[in-house]
Amino acid sequence: MTKDNKERFGFETRMIHAGSQPEPVTGARQTPIFQNTSYVFHDTDHAASLFNLQTFGFIYSRLTNPTVAALEERIANLEGGRGATACASGHAAQILALFPLMDPGDDFIASNRLYGGSITQFGKTFKKFDWRCTFVDVDQAENVRKALTPKTKAIFVESLANPGGVISDLEALSAIAREAGIPLIVDNTMATPYLCPAFEWGADLIVHSTTKFLSGNGTSTGGCVVDSGTFDWAASDKFPSLSAPEPAYHGLRFAESFGDMAYTLHSHAVALRDLGATMAPMNAFQTLLGIETLSLRMERHCANALAVARFLESHDLVEWVSHAGLESSPYHALANKYLPKGAGAVFTFGVKGGYEMGIKVVEACELFSHLANIGDTRSLILHPASTTHRQLSEDQRIAAGAGPDVIRLSIGLETLDDITADLDQALTRAAE
Ligand SMILES: *Cc1c(COP(=O)(O)O)cnc(C)c1O
Repeated sequence: MTKDNKERFGFETRMIHAGSQPEPVTGARQTPIFQNTSYVFHDTDHAASLFNLQTFGFIYSRLTNPTVAALEERIANLEGGRGATACASGHAAQILALFPLMDPGDDFIASNRLYGGSITQFGKTFKKFDWRCTFVDVDQAENVRKALTPKTKAIFVESLANPGGVISDLEALSAIAREAGIPLIVDNTMATPYLCPAFEWGADLIVHSTTKFLSGNGTSTGGCVVDSGTFDWAASDKFPSLSAPEPAYHGLRFAESFGDMAYTLHSHAVALRDLGATMAPMNAFQTLLGIETLSLRMERHCANALAVARFLESHDLVEWVSHAGLESSPYHALANKYLPKGAGAVFTFGVKGGYEMGIKVVEACELFSHLANIGDTRSLILHPASTTHRQLSEDQRIAAGAGPDVIRLSIGLETLDDITADLDQALTRAAE
């Protein structure tokens, strides 16, 4: 099923069929797990043309694998993109997404309210590559314009940010990216293509942690970069990895030779080849299974989460709730625009009584699992100040939305009454 079928088939049909045909030799209907590293060449000419990128086919599973390729086609199709590159984790996807764009000394602009792990990766580890990240409050799009330099190569935001129910104004940000001649990269992990069609709002590249809602059951770490295929990499000299001759492939220019597949082919033929952050076939298989039920799960995740948010908002022991689906949220209007099917399943709330009370609530939960993941079928709870944000100063924690009273929830697919009853008993016991 190709991109053209996006017009012909609905989202739910493509969730199940995109990228998956019956296996031609055996007729196996479900995508097989191709648990192998390498593929026999027809002859030496075939091998040579594969290595020269003149013929497409499978060489070695660090670059491509049939099960992983099925997942790539499915995610690209659901996002309405041209091509995708699956990889070992969401963090690997963020390195892969920037790799064709950035040279040492270049910078990119990112939202200061990204998932905490991304703030650390961008702000600390990327310094070792001399990739510089400028964090800004993207709620005022003007902040992004002011931070642009001649060496800025991308703008990076989350459509729906983890965890505070913050929503990026994609249309305004994409206008700035377009003016600057650089791509807008959107982390669509929390929204998924079901809730937010980020390419339609002007994203040029989308990244995912498939670990979360796409796999959906807490079994498989993974990531993916999706290219819209519409950015012209040769329009300026900003992106030499894609527009200038590539010595490792006899001076081939990716943008000229491969057009709208240039970015995705570069991600396999250069980035995965040399960075090696490949997705395992088993994880691709688990993620394909997860995506088959994505829309059903997201509907229930969103309905349960909004009901739990309303329940907490009216609870005596709760100070505030930050969920963009609530009328009280400053992001409610953006939620109606960008996430009309639901504002996601991950949100934060503040418990009366601060740090001590936060820890007690987490410990008193019986149905919720206390762990550092989101997007599972199970409901999950975390107290960021005593766990993920422990190393930060109090001021830094508050800036990151991880103050002493903050509790993060990822609402699962259990019976709604059981979820609210567990939170209610935990709050009540903690207050005793
Ligand atoms: C979890 C997460 C990541 C990182 O993904 P991993 O698969 O854990 O490497 C990136 N962005 C968001 C929004 C996330 O929730």
